Amino acid sequence: MNPLVEAALEFVWPTRCVGCDEHGSLLCPSCREALPFIDPALACPRCGAPFGQRVCTECSTAEGLRPLPFDGAVSACEFTGTAARLVVAYKDQFERRLAPVIAGLIFEVIPRDWVRTSDSITWIPSDAEALRRRGFDHMEAVAEELAAIIGRPASMLLSKANATDQRVLDKQERADNMRGAFELIAEPPQRILLIDDVLTSGATLEGASQMLLTAARTVHVATFARVW
Ligand SMILES: [Zn+2]
Ligand SMILES: [Zn+2]
Repeated sequence: MNPLVEAALEFVWPTRCVGCDEHGSLLCPSCREALPFIDPALACPRCGAPFGQRVCTECSTAEGLRPLPFDGAVSACEFTGTAARLVVAYKDQFERRLAPVIAGLIFEVIPRDWVRTSDSITWIPSDAEALRRRGFDHMEAVAEELAAIIGRPASMLLSKANATDQRVLDKQERADNMRGAFELIAEPPQRILLIDDVLTSGATLEGASQMLLTAARTVHVATFARVW
């Protein structure tokens, strides 16, 4: 953007922190520090759930360990407070400058050996309706920022088939809805890092991962936030 236009815009519409509304940056240093980070040392080593310590209550069932449709998942923050406001500002208030902020926060939580061994990064694509509303695929933008950080390509591998809006469904219905909700649109590489903004029930990421694993060898999942 032209620096003069940028200065004028900043004057009439100053950049504010998503956490405390202070002028000057999108996420001020104190709000960044106070984000509800999930401590990887205390999270479930399989699915990244906070407070899992060893294996969380969702992974461990009476019949034994619940099979996971991916090779591990991590999330940077719990979906609460400033972390939740950051997602809303990015997705619903179209603050596109948050893409590198979110990518940087996801990068910090990804285990280094996942970074080293990933052939490419892919993302949960927006559906047609969301694309129309936002004018951009919000996770594609984050994937591109992350690709620049870790030096691996961001590859569009999935498209979303028409699925029912997840918000009106219960957990089992979400899982059923997501089975077959994705199509592979390109030949995936062997080792994939799959990203999304928020892990809610996990059904979306499970559906996407299952589809990728029809052709890939490993899928590691990283999200910015996580509902628990
Ligand atoms: Zn702040
Ligand atoms: Zn778990």
